[in-house]
Amino acid sequence: MSRTYPTDPWCTDKAVWHVAWVLAPRGHFSLLCETHMAATAERYDYVDRHPVEIACNMPSFAWALRSGRPSSCVTVASDQVHQERPQ
Ligand SMILES: [Zn+2]
Ligand SMILES: [Zn+2]
Repeated sequence: MSRTYPTDPWCTDKAVWHVAWVLAPRGHFSLLCETHMAATAERYDYVDRHPVEIACNMPSFAWALRSGRPSSCVTVASDQVHQERPQ
């Protein structure tokens, strides 16, 4: 497991939520289990979230906003990814 946000707790539970802290210009995302999603939602503001899908675990995912429907992740070519690199 890795954590993508400094305040993320280490967790080995199954991630069920994909959370977006920042969408643009560089996204900042976390994969959270149900327990941590609930705890996180009380303390932090997130921009968007959706249930974890296969694309969420891909190294080159992109957050896709769809009007009127929940967001989702799509895989993209690596040169289109605007993810923050791990420090
Ligand atoms: Zn957790
Ligand atoms: Zn996702």
